[in-house]
Amino acid sequence: MVQAWLKVEENPTRTVQGFLRSLLEKEVVEALLVPAPSVGGESVTPTLFLSPNELSVAEPFAPLMPVSEATAVSMLTRTGNPLRLGAVMRNCQIRALVELVKFKQAQLDNLIIIGVDCPGTYELRDYEELVRKGVEPSAQLLEVIAKREIGVNSGLPFREACRMCAYPIPDPSIAAITVGILGFDGEKIPVLVRDDLAEKLGLADGSPSAQREEVIRSLSEAKKAERGKQIERFSKEGAGLEGLLRWFSKCIRCYNCMGVCPICYCRECVFRTPVFEHESARYFDWAQKKGALQLPPEHLLFHLTRMNHMVTSCVGCGLCTSACPADIDVALAFQSVGEGVQALFNYVPGRSLEEPAPVQTFQEREFVELGETLK
Ligand code: SF4
Ligand code: SF4
Ligand code: SF4
Repeated sequence: MVQAWLKVEENPTRTVQGFLRSLLEKEVVEALLVPAPSVGGESVTPTLFLSPNELSVAEPFAPLMPVSEATAVSMLTRTGNPLRLGAVMRNCQIRALVELVKFKQAQLDNLIIIGVDCPGTYELRDYEELVRKGVEPSAQLLEVIAKREIGVNSGLPFREACRMCAYPIPDPSIAAITVGILGFDGEKIPVLVRDDLAEKLGLADGSPSAQREEVIRSLSEAKKAERGKQIERFSKEGAGLEGLLRWFSKCIRCYNCMGVCPICYCRECVFRTPVFEHESARYFDWAQKKGALQLPPEHLLFHLTRMNHMVTSCVGCGLCTSACPADIDVALAFQSVGEGVQALFNYVPGRSLEEPAPVQTFQEREFVELGETLK
């Protein structure tokens, strides 16, 4: 890996737009997926660019993630991408993509991952409010980084999932390029570039960013402490069947959490089939047996089924919580349960392409100590 520096000319966003433009112009990639403002500018969305001239609207650092870039990469690569694609991604998106590759919902062939350091992202309403007040969220965030004031709170409205994110920095073994914005010192931005790409781009090797290393260390410690606090909160309020029933009691089964989850991988979800469309009379039977029946029913079954399918692959992006109209902290439940289950399998989602996902593997002598028996 070459450690290079981008000198900031006008502002950091313009500088990185220029760097991305050079990837297209020097044919490192033939297409680029980068967040760009939606119509009206109050949101950003993954946008596919083929022409370098269009990149002047790209917002690579916008602290907003209404959908995961992993979902967009899945769309663009699942059945084979015809062009060499570069995708600008945050680490939870990269980790989700690794999981999707294991589930054959995306491919890494012909794909160059351009990771960006991620201090965190905001809820859409907070981002929107800043834009309406005339604040540029990317510029504001980069100013805080340059002043070395970035932290879990920093006065910026980071989502809870981001404040407790365990892996905010792209893994250089997966990302061919990393834009290290946490090392932005007001004048230059460090970038880590794979040797062959650095040669193509004419980038010279320099010294690593001491600021970036220091910020990563302190940010990771703060996020770890926040994570501990939140998981402790769930263990008090949401553990066990009773706790889960309470945690999800406001659920209206809108399925937003499922639709937005980047690694909900089933091509056909059982909850979207007629399996749960019962004969009307059955609801009356159940009401008679139980005394009363809340509708729609089976919401805990829905969450337990989803947990059962993908909790070992949950990357903690928090999109499920952000998408929930009932303000249920779905992500905290999935992360808290996920942490325990992932530890049992010694599995970290998105850590490595070589490690098969636990739901894909069968071991005869698994969990014998928990009472599983062999014939
Ligand atoms: S979950 Fe982590 S990587 Fe994803 S947006 Fe939040 S801080 Fe960034
Ligand atoms: S369950 Fe929630 S936190 Fe986990 S990967 Fe899916 S959307 Fe992200
Ligand atoms: S988004 Fe919220 S209300 Fe909708 S199904 Fe998920 S938990 Fe229930």
